[in-house]
Amino acid sequence: MQSHAYGFPRLGSNREFKKSIESFWKNESNSDQLWKSLDTLQNENIERYTSNVDTFPNGELTLYDPMLDVAILCGLYSPSNLDEYYDLCRGKNALEMTKWFNTNYHYLVPEFFDKKDISFKSNIDHFALRYKQASFPSVIGPFTFLKLSKGLSFEKLSSLFLQLVPIYKELISKVDQIQIEEPAFVMDLSEEEISLIEKGYKLLESSSKKITLVTYYDNVDWIERLLKLPVSAIGLDFVRGKDQFDYICKNGFPEDKKLIAGLVDARNVWKTNIFSCLEKLKALDSSVKNLALSNAAPLFHLPVSLKVENNLDANLKANLSFAEEKLEEINHISKCFSGAISPEKSTNKPLGVNLYVQERVRSLKDSDFVKDVSLEERKSIQADILGLPSFPTTTIGSYPQTCEVRKKRSEFKKGQLSKENYDLYVKEEIAKLVDFQEEVGLDVFVHGEFERTDMVEFFAQNLDGVATTESGWIISYGTRAYRPPIIYGDISRPKTMTIDEVVHAQSLTKKPVKGMLTGSVTIIAWSFCREDIPLSEVSYQISLSLQDEIKDYEKSNIQIVQVDEAAFREKAPIKKKDWPSYFEWAVKSFNLLTNTKAETQIHTHMCYSEFGEIINYINEMDFDVISIEASRSRGDIIEAFEKIDFKRQIGLGVWDIHSPSVPSKEEIKDIITRSLRRIPSENFWINPDCGLKTRDWEETKLALKALVDVAKSL
Ligand code: GLN
Ligand code: ZN
Repeated sequence: MQSHAYGFPRLGSNREFKKSIESFWKNESNSDQLWKSLDTLQNENIERYTSNVDTFPNGELTLYDPMLDVAILCGLYSPSNLDEYYDLCRGKNALEMTKWFNTNYHYLVPEFFDKKDISFKSNIDHFALRYKQASFPSVIGPFTFLKLSKGLSFEKLSSLFLQLVPIYKELISKVDQIQIEEPAFVMDLSEEEISLIEKGYKLLESSSKKITLVTYYDNVDWIERLLKLPVSAIGLDFVRGKDQFDYICKNGFPEDKKLIAGLVDARNVWKTNIFSCLEKLKALDSSVKNLALSNAAPLFHLPVSLKVENNLDANLKANLSFAEEKLEEINHISKCFSGAISPEKSTNKPLGVNLYVQERVRSLKDSDFVKDVSLEERKSIQADILGLPSFPTTTIGSYPQTCEVRKKRSEFKKGQLSKENYDLYVKEEIAKLVDFQEEVGLDVFVHGEFERTDMVEFFAQNLDGVATTESGWIISYGTRAYRPPIIYGDISRPKTMTIDEVVHAQSLTKKPVKGMLTGSVTIIAWSFCREDIPLSEVSYQISLSLQDEIKDYEKSNIQIVQVDEAAFREKAPIKKKDWPSYFEWAVKSFNLLTNTKAETQIHTHMCYSEFGEIINYINEMDFDVISIEASRSRGDIIEAFEKIDFKRQIGLGVWDIHSPSVPSKEEIKDIITRSLRRIPSENFWINPDCGLKTRDWEETKLALKALVDVAKSL
């Protein structure tokens, strides 16, 4: 049996990808130096592959994002130098960014709205496509590219698809082999779309011997037809696509093709269970002639290497496998399968067991998920306590994290600054922020989140049952990387996590200060999560810990608590049929977390606008106020809320904090006036789109003053 691998992280062991590109941006290096470091990264990955697997694409690297590569390949964009190229990624002319399937990667979204008469032209020799000119490059497929673009009707998509395929054909003619990645094949597709794919791929028939087609993240529901496409190898995800595994065991696989069996999970950090993997290979082997073991999805969802982690608990580390280790597993398991070596039994001890927490989740009753005071009653109780004006103003939580804030935090981490002095520093920043909010004239204050690096990592560090890594970076978009925590055991809260800072802020003002928590679904979505118990159980464990935190806020007279659920939408499964079961536990987790006193006003925050499809689920979350994105979404969002007769209060994001410009009063007023036609004014809050962490103080002040002025004038 053979082995295949792909998608190894481009980030590099020391985040060289990030560092070399960012140093180019800062003019600290030139384009030759940038190319040189990228070539080195590509070569290092090739070496890793070479020592572990038989086949792999050797041209995978990109200058920023593989979707942009295809947009350049077909001439949609044609930057004439690196500066122009990066202008498409960041800065004024940047493409919009969005979630890549249900992962934590974000891609640049090609956009066709204003391009009525567009036609594609081959741009294969473009300098940005250097790695597509390798002997075995890997490219996002033509269907996935168009399906994930914006502003295409089906008619337009079809005609562009049939123009795009010949460009791939030309590319294929220049290389020995190609890997075409079509993850969009696992989406819910219409019959028309499937037929279109068949028609397009038919055009590649004469090059079929060179093509390895891979799909991942879920089942391809039309597997029978997929297997007939004219390609020489097909990669399937058997970790998240169990139906297609059963299908092939039962019905076999075409003899003229190679099956690239994705059995090694590439979306989670746990070691592969060798014995069960060997079982599956055996089952496949009896019905597949030409079989290769592979990763189930691209490896870039994992950190590069476990070897550099020195502070992880040894028992935990023994259970983990990052990208490098997954490659070694593929190597090892295929050798075991051919009998060259024999597998060893591993002794997996359960990690982080907490019987009290388990019992607490087991004894949850239906009533624990339902508030006993209705929304209407809560509204009047809270109005009496809070006495807010109409059109109350607030912010989403974080305020500019200046170099100084980050410097102090890193000094504290390195032990150069004592805990006392660090806490003192944070408290001074909070005091300054309280004054700032008084001066600007906001109605509901926040403490500013100066003590937090990241809205998930902060809680991960404070909860038991969750580990954080030193160098477990993965790319979130472009050159931006983050370190997902690892949820390995039962979750509990050894002590309060956020109370001191918020109570300190409250002690300095008469205005209400919001407590600030990250919700369970978002904590899970941005972490690697244990798989030995259902996600719902992990989620309820987190909810109970955070519910305890809210009760501690209540004891300290904090009247408003915001629970951020930034990842509520993105964690949703790819296929609609899997939505009800996901949203059931997701909604229940929120309702359990926030099931506290009726007097406490519960806010939630979600920073995106595609609510149409999930609006009913959101309305099942029993919060009092939601703050959402609205400035970029042309008011669509309001319609979504109107359709369901939404009774809760809404804070509209009238300042798009992702853009560097300060909104004018007219712009703010415009969004509000449009929205007021649909939302009753008594339910209306005014706030920015999201946290202000990445903004600077100057623009923050100007924008918030404008926002408060508009609210007052209303
Ligand atoms: N409270 C967080 C902040 O203000 C929310 C961030 C987010 O939604 N991404 O930074
Ligand atoms: Zn947000």
